Amino acid sequence: GELGPEQNGLIIAHYGQQVDVEPLDQPGPAQRCHLRANLGSLVTGDKIIWREGKPTGVVVATSERSSELSRPDSHGNLRPVAANIDYIVIVLALHPEPHANLINRYLVAAEAVNIEPLILLNKVDLLDEAGRQQMDDLLKIYPQIGYKILEASTKSQDGLSALKSTLKDRTSVFVGQSGVGKSSLINALLPGVDIKVGELSQARNKGTHTTTTAKLFHFPEGGDLIDSPGIREFGLWHMSREQVADGFVEFRPYLNNCKFRDCKHEGEPGCSLQAAIAEGKISPERIASYASIANSLEQL
Ligand code: GDP
Repeated sequence: GELGPEQNGLIIAHYGQQVDVEPLDQPGPAQRCHLRANLGSLVTGDKIIWREGKPTGVVVATSERSSELSRPDSHGNLRPVAANIDYIVIVLALHPEPHANLINRYLVAAEAVNIEPLILLNKVDLLDEAGRQQMDDLLKIYPQIGYKILEASTKSQDGLSALKSTLKDRTSVFVGQSGVGKSSLINALLPGVDIKVGELSQARNKGTHTTTTAKLFHFPEGGDLIDSPGIREFGLWHMSREQVADGFVEFRPYLNNCKFRDCKHEGEPGCSLQAAIAEGKISPERIASYASIANSLEQL
């Protein structure tokens, strides 16, 4: 069939050998496209060149990704699942109770893919004085080492407009434990999109192949969200000990100064991280969390 002229597009969903492409040069509906041969694997969030056609258009060229999220396939090979992401929003809440190791693990995983993490404390409506104190104690280190913390409640709507302006004109993914309120947040930010609250995404998607794809949504205020069950599990798969150490951003200036080149930073003599702790430059809790995460990886 006839094909239209080449134009810029954005992949908003991915189905096997086909993708849904939205025009970027002017507003217009998305169109199902197939891929010209040899384009490699394309994922949601990719910016591409395409041509309209009937019944399907065609993607003719790809462009470089500013970032990508990958996850291991069934053979353990990393496969990209989403591209051009600006923020990994790490959602947590008083319930289910967050642990520093888990927060640190998400941060390390974000650092490993070079995407800026934002920490989002949801369900602030639940915070009484003791809960507030508990969250403050848990989170106070993060602004000190350069991370932004946002707060929100999908129940009281607190913080939602600040969240919207932070996410404006950027592409984000929401990650975090089941039950922290990711679906509720997405529903609050995306009118018209109805993600069931309080259900495991996997269960909802069982047997319906196409819904497990990563999908890109537009916030009415500007900015995009990419979501899929796989993306929500980001951060919980394998990393190397070096990636873990490097993902503790305040360790970086010290990592190559240890006496022993293979220093594991677990109390060996001449470890420059230990010296940094002694000087108050690194918190003992963060080094303990590093050791715990690194050692848990080695047992996998
Ligand atoms: P997800 O598993 O991360 O997607 O979490 P859900 O969005 O399914 O929410 C889990 C539970 O937390 C549900 O019962 C929600 O109603 C509840 N929830 C979500 N956001 C808030 C909030 O801001 N405040 C309170 N009190 N509960 C919330």
